[in-house]
Amino acid sequence: MRWATFGSTRAALARGETTCEAVTTTFLRAIARKRHLNIYTYVDAEGALRTAREQDRQLATGEAPPLAGLVLAVKDVLCIRNWPVTCASRMLDGFNAVYDATAVARLRRQGAILIGRTNCDEFAMGSSNENSCYGPVLNPRNEIYAPGGSSGGSAAAVAAGLCHAALGTDTGGSIRQPAALCGVVGLKPTYGRVSRYGLVAFASSFDCIGPLTNSVEDAALILAAMAGVDERDATSAPVPVAPEPVGLTDAARCAGAALRVGVPKEFFGEGLDSTIRCSIEAILHRLRAAGAVVKDVAMPHTRYGIATYYILATAEASSNLGRYDGLRYGYRPAPDGRKRIDLHALYAQARSEGFGKEVKRRIMLGTYVLSSGYYDAYYAKAQRVRALIREDFDKAFQEVDALVTPVTPVPGIKLGSMINSPLKMYLSDIYTVTANLAGVPGLVIPIGAHASGLPIGLQLLGRPFDETHLFRLGELMMQLAKD
Ligand code: GLN
Repeated sequence: MRWATFGSTRAALARGETTCEAVTTTFLRAIARKRHLNIYTYVDAEGALRTAREQDRQLATGEAPPLAGLVLAVKDVLCIRNWPVTCASRMLDGFNAVYDATAVARLRRQGAILIGRTNCDEFAMGSSNENSCYGPVLNPRNEIYAPGGSSGGSAAAVAAGLCHAALGTDTGGSIRQPAALCGVVGLKPTYGRVSRYGLVAFASSFDCIGPLTNSVEDAALILAAMAGVDERDATSAPVPVAPEPVGLTDAARCAGAALRVGVPKEFFGEGLDSTIRCSIEAILHRLRAAGAVVKDVAMPHTRYGIATYYILATAEASSNLGRYDGLRYGYRPAPDGRKRIDLHALYAQARSEGFGKEVKRRIMLGTYVLSSGYYDAYYAKAQRVRALIREDFDKAFQEVDALVTPVTPVPGIKLGSMINSPLKMYLSDIYTVTANLAGVPGLVIPIGAHASGLPIGLQLLGRPFDETHLFRLGELMMQLAKD
């Protein structure tokens, strides 16, 4: 793809070198060519071309919206009016959304061309995109590997050049981990930065919507377009976002001298792949040489992250997924010929047949930790540990402005290699879940590759609502990785 980023496409559009229609057509052709990767669950070629043509007319008269020409894919967990939304689950089979999610509506208004929906783990539960009723996505960088999850389709779509950018969701790492495994940029914004209205809920106190892109600049543009308070989501925050990150690159270079970056040793312990460790250390070395202060910080509660996350997230999921009863949405089991339908039997049948294995496992776990007699030992205790993890971040951010960490301990996930070991899969989320427990923003950037061709990502974690700082630092570090 000639203009892989929206930034470069926008410049080409301004110079009259291409049109929105031509760009959209190129992506549609690429989607058709790469169908075997199993990335899209739905493509709206006609709708996308219609919008593109309209934008070409608006560009000619100077009335185009600011993001005209941005070809965007959306994870199959966000509502888009009149499109199916399936969450990669049989449970939502045949269900069409009746309104746009706020994030989608805002991007659409600013000019995004919605091209299709991307595959993901069922109800966003998973780290490899293999828990999908559509089957797994193949990693475009090396097709015997998974793209990561749960926003695996979104990351793969961007990596394979099947859109400029894609929206994903991150409850415990689902934007950042697949971004790292596919070699793209991924942003999990601060909790509350982007309205969750129209996002099918997994764990409401964790869920965040964010972009996957081929540049930091594109991620910043998309965040600015969709962020902000929304009366339909009481947890959305009225904190203004810096508008366009103009001159991101120059600003980043100058910023080197004023940076204070923390390295939490708890993120570099046993189990971390040695190539990932070395690549990150090499960049930190260059960052120091560029004038930044790089120091060790302590995050002592990190080791409780996985247990805490998998108690609280499953508890919230068991409650959120209670609404799928086989009556109101999507899948309804075929009648078995009896005259009288027993309501409870219908619920049980719908939920047994509609949900996949992992989702059922989570509902059971979540129900267990919330049940009387166990609530204090698990749920209430996990809430207290969550507060301690948040405190670790508060303390660290008194000393430094951002943290640098790996994204995942493993270099890649071979298709089929972890799917039968859920615990192993859960443990691989160790470096991403604490950001969700604390609500802080995280930016993942590609910094290199393994010999297998699989990319290596680096994670930057920042203070709440300070995504701008992460963008500057991310831009700088991507340059340092290339130098
Ligand atoms: N891998 C984590 C899980 O399975 C995170 C999922 C997510 O962020 N949606 O819960």
